[in-house]
Amino acid sequence: MESIEKVRKILLDKVYDSDSPREVLRSKELRGLYGLIKTLPVEERSSFGQKINGIKQEIEKAILEREEVLNTVSLPPIDITAPMDINAPQPELLPSDRGTIHPLSREIDRISDIFNRMGFVMEESREIDDQFHMFESLNFPKGHPARDDYDTFMTVETDKDGDRLIAPAHTSTMQNRVLVKYRDNLAKGEAIAAIVPDRVFRNEDLDARHEHTFYQVEGVYVAKGVNVGNLIATLQEFLQEYYGKKLYVRVNPFYFPFTEPSFEFALSCPFCEGKNPDCKVCSGEGWIELLGCGMIHPKVLEAADIDPNEYTGFAFGCGIDRLVMMKYGIEDVRHFESGRLDFLEQF
Ligand SMILES: [Zn+2]
Repeated sequence: MESIEKVRKILLDKVYDSDSPREVLRSKELRGLYGLIKTLPVEERSSFGQKINGIKQEIEKAILEREEVLNTVSLPPIDITAPMDINAPQPELLPSDRGTIHPLSREIDRISDIFNRMGFVMEESREIDDQFHMFESLNFPKGHPARDDYDTFMTVETDKDGDRLIAPAHTSTMQNRVLVKYRDNLAKGEAIAAIVPDRVFRNEDLDARHEHTFYQVEGVYVAKGVNVGNLIATLQEFLQEYYGKKLYVRVNPFYFPFTEPSFEFALSCPFCEGKNPDCKVCSGEGWIELLGCGMIHPKVLEAADIDPNEYTGFAFGCGIDRLVMMKYGIEDVRHFESGRLDFLEQF
């Protein structure tokens, strides 16, 4: 009888300590008690069995109480903004246990920060857009051959004009919206100054330099008396800040429907500064054709109800992947979207 009382206490303690108290009903102690019955003289079995059944009922009652407590227990909320103590001893971590900021996200923050300090506000692009913003508002009328230069992804469904929608192939798809949104700045004597760093899509054949999904930063600046000198100075200032060194730039004439004049903008190789004939970044040429830019076409300003006789502006679109690859000597653009931990963990 004494040992029954001991086992009863052990089992009840187990119930009150357990996170899954129902398991106590299957414990070897309880089964042991039932097992004892057949070892007893026949006349004692009945009263012993009743005692054990009483204990079992007590345990079941305790289980219900314990489950009630477990269901209502409130855990302290986790403060996800609390700083992590990086010096604290860490358990053995698998690579997947601790995340890092994706290199492109981090560099986009840096790029935005530089432009913010130069007075540009940031706008987001979108992942699906209409043909008006992708082409018409940028002086690519319907049937314009330069539309075919963009290998666009299009939807099967069409919009109310019967046109397919497009996964933007350039961040310029936001130019008209930026101009309209900040148009009132001009009347107040302020400039329109915005950047759009975001994701773009092209139906490309993939190789080390071409990816179907990549990033651009669009820049738009409009005010009175803006000229090509302002454009070049802005880009040079940005690039020198980004690479942390003095760089030389040069522009070559180019063609885009939405800028006039248009330029291809090159900078001196930030890697070898033109001193290494075997440089992989510039192929030993010392110059890198980096981005397209120009003075915003009068028709683009007109499409946003801005008088091109009164205001002028510049725009540029720069591949972010390319900037980052040059900064860190990354040889293959496909690494960015590969999800490869051995690549991502280096940043
Ligand atoms: Zn070089």
